[in-house]
Amino acid sequence: MGGFGVTFKAMFKKRLTEQYPEEKKPTAPRFHGRHQLNRHPDGLEKCIGCELCAWACPADAIYVEGADNTEEERYSPGERYGRVYQINYLRCILCGLCVEACPTRALTMTNEYELADRTRASLIFTKEELLAGLQDGMVDSPHAIYPGADEQTYYRGEVKAAAPGTERQVARSKGEQPPADEDDALAAASRLRDPNGDAGDSGSGVRA
Ligand code: SF4
Ligand code: SF4
Repeated sequence: MGGFGVTFKAMFKKRLTEQYPEEKKPTAPRFHGRHQLNRHPDGLEKCIGCELCAWACPADAIYVEGADNTEEERYSPGERYGRVYQINYLRCILCGLCVEACPTRALTMTNEYELADRTRASLIFTKEELLAGLQDGMVDSPHAIYPGADEQTYYRGEVKAAAPGTERQVARSKGEQPPADEDDALAAASRLRDPNGDAGDSGSGVRA
């Protein structure tokens, strides 16, 4: 009889059932969700490929490979950048220790919690998936450093946007092809250097 009393009381209480996924409730502001790799205000990446986040991770969920920036292909203001960056969400326990270890505030966590999927591979997030989107004033990496700036300037927050005229560099290390007009320019330059190169096509037919 006592048991029925509990049932009757519960019938008149406010329902706590959540209608997820039709209705999604906002999380607490500091909820630990999916990670994000942040950018400087001009679009260069904050990650320097130091691997401290990977060493701090208790679940061995992060894989990082750093590489050197060059003036022709620059991803971050300093010497190094994160060439490969992966987080395995099958292992991650969303503890946030990696965020604490990061010396450049490159790595933070968002409030996104929908991290289920049907395959293992799709839960290993790559750098391209983790890298923050572009905001106003940003140019996608790789591109040149702000003129006159150095990495200290960037970390003091003195670079507020990409310098006027900043253009994205061609990422040779990722196998991106040069734009078509660059191909045309190279072909024209090679014809100038070797005027006989196209003699057969031009139909001049004059041979010694
Ligand atoms: S949140 Fe914790 S478990 Fe997940 S990657 Fe960072 S350190 Fe590893
Ligand atoms: S996210 Fe931070 S700690 Fe991890 S490799 Fe990049 S700079 Fe280093």
